[in-house]
Amino acid sequence: MKFNLLQPKRIFLASIFCVNLFPLAGWAVTVQEVPNPRKEYGGWVTDMAGILNDETEAQINQMISELEVEKGTEMAVVTVPETSPATSPKTFATELFNYWGIGKQGQDNGVLFLISVGDRRVEIETGYGVEAILPDAKVGNIIDTQIIPRFKQGDFAGGTLAGTQALIAVLNSEQSISENQVVYPNTQISPHNTDSGILIVLAGGGVLAVVVGSAIYASRPRKISLAPEGYTRKSQGNYTFLCANCQQPMAKVDKQRIQFYLSQPAVTAQKLGSVKFEGWQCLSCTQKQTGDKFHLVAQESRSSRFQQCPHCQELTVTRQQRTIQSPTEYSSGRQLITDQCHCCSYRYQYEEIIPPLPPSSSSSDSYSSSDNNFGGGSSGGGGAGGSW
Ligand SMILES: [Zn+2]
Ligand SMILES: [Zn+2]
Ligand SMILES: [Zn+2]
Repeated sequence: MKFNLLQPKRIFLASIFCVNLFPLAGWAVTVQEVPNPRKEYGGWVTDMAGILNDETEAQINQMISELEVEKGTEMAVVTVPETSPATSPKTFATELFNYWGIGKQGQDNGVLFLISVGDRRVEIETGYGVEAILPDAKVGNIIDTQIIPRFKQGDFAGGTLAGTQALIAVLNSEQSISENQVVYPNTQISPHNTDSGILIVLAGGGVLAVVVGSAIYASRPRKISLAPEGYTRKSQGNYTFLCANCQQPMAKVDKQRIQFYLSQPAVTAQKLGSVKFEGWQCLSCTQKQTGDKFHLVAQESRSSRFQQCPHCQELTVTRQQRTIQSPTEYSSGRQLITDQCHCCSYRYQYEEIIPPLPPSSSSSDSYSSSDNNFGGGSSGGGGAGGSW
């Protein structure tokens, strides 16, 4: 997360100056000092070197979240200024992987994509559980073809994104191959587009008909009327936006274009995943006015992990919980709650009582939810590296 000083002034909310997410105390970083993105904000990316833009981080976080939901595979993307107290970037990667416990416990299906800018080195560390699908040679190939050439040109965001995409494509490949092998002998129903509820059917005469599936009735989008221009906030949901002037469905504006209109707190919230910003435009109305107007829609996450910053007026605060004293069956414990804004210096800490444990056999494991930590996987040092 870095400021792009070349970008024009962002409008909308008040323009408040914000500090960097990870103030670098010194150049040297130990494994223990790398902020765990699961605990920090429920994400997968920690950009200590400040080489990724917010858009790229948001994209990577989303891709890995989908991977984790579908396959259970956990992947962390970490950039550091240097790995120097460790004996080598590889050692640093293995130590960090095992310190965080990337991958599910017992499955060891974790991947760590580490970039050390000072060492000009990439290390991709893999757990045993993914080595069958993602052998070291394949990792090396992705590094050489997708990552290093871009890094050599100084395109860190592009190389990190391309590398992550390539790794995820391989990690997903088992599933997609078997899906694609499904053959529909006589009917010509496309297996695609089913999640959007639309099936394209080729009728006998070769006439193309579009059938809207009724099975997806429950998740049918809610229709919302929007003025061709404006700003609306809603809870995250499934919506279709109709133009308030002409009732026609609106079209989504290119993501790049809306970035220009976001304040720094809004950009931070977008990166954290607490708010999703989209631009919607009525093509027919906009054309008539020969303007370039759109309606900015902010969809707020329903997760209680995110709080509103009283200073930034945006969902830029994450809540972190640290146990000071574990509860037992007979006594309550204490935990320290830290609310921290990722955009400004706002920070609020307070202690909370943890009620005593129920007298059942529930183990300490039940406290580590996959939502706010890695799953406890380990690495035996598999993977590959490359220099640029
Ligand atoms: Zn319209
Ligand atoms: Zn703030
Ligand atoms: Zn701020």
